[in-house]
Amino acid sequence: MREYFRKIGIHKPNFLLCMDFETAISSRKIHQENFSINKLRDLDNGDTLKALETILNILKKYNQTITFFIVFKLEKIYPGIINKILSHGHEVGWHGYSHSFLNDKFILKKELDESYSLIKKYNIQGFQAPNITFFKAGYPLLKRYGLRYSSSIYGNSSALYNFDGILEIPVSVSNSSHDPDPKEISFPVNLSPVNLLKLGIPFGSSYFWSLLGHKYYSKKLDIAKKENRTVNLFIHNWQLYSSNRLNKIRTDERIGLFANPLFYPYKINVMNMFENLLSKYKFTRCIDYIKMIKSYEK
Ligand SMILES: [Zn+2]
Repeated sequence: MREYFRKIGIHKPNFLLCMDFETAISSRKIHQENFSINKLRDLDNGDTLKALETILNILKKYNQTITFFIVFKLEKIYPGIINKILSHGHEVGWHGYSHSFLNDKFILKKELDESYSLIKKYNIQGFQAPNITFFKAGYPLLKRYGLRYSSSIYGNSSALYNFDGILEIPVSVSNSSHDPDPKEISFPVNLSPVNLLKLGIPFGSSYFWSLLGHKYYSKKLDIAKKENRTVNLFIHNWQLYSSNRLNKIRTDERIGLFANPLFYPYKINVMNMFENLLSKYKFTRCIDYIKMIKSYEK
């Protein structure tokens, strides 16, 4: 199998918008507490379902179907949540079981084992690593558990890589000439200072939505439209809908990649911008994008 391929002959722009769906109860700190499913459900108090309802309605309003990468533990807490998302025409992908950092084989296998029955039941194809932090040796494991594609590195979204049988769609960066040989890619390709120098602004990350604003994004999408390029963005449900009660127990910012005050851009609600982009551009589910590229290959 080829190590990677560039998309050739795609004559239309493709805009991917992914929703990393998770809540405070899937924060790493809360996960460490090892609370029972019932206790987690009490802590959440239905807020996740309200957020989901709100977001599904907005997407429906603009007639858009997208990919939700969800923390699979949510299905244990709220059985039926995957089906609910699917029933609205969206794709569901895997965002880990507990939102742990997936940076070694042991933890990845554990999380895959905890999710496997659901991956199989719902024929889950896609994966987005928490914090876009993944490791190269993890791809064969994803493949073994039946997954097909991933979006877990930053890079040129118009490139599509093939790592051990898993297609990798990079999350968009501003340096569109960045086009490394896959052998030169050193993992993780996350938001480290070294990567930022190479990649430019990783505007595909929802971290930048509130900092750069809708005009910046519209410009990026307009240029991509002209040049038939792919743009791959992700956003979190909690940037669109949040409850004060849940904000109080949202603890990852203190132990995660973005220590305060760097976490600040994440605290600004970007629902208006979300609606603005939905009203102006048509977005594609990742699985449809993969299928389209595969059809060009034949
Ligand atoms: Zn996440």
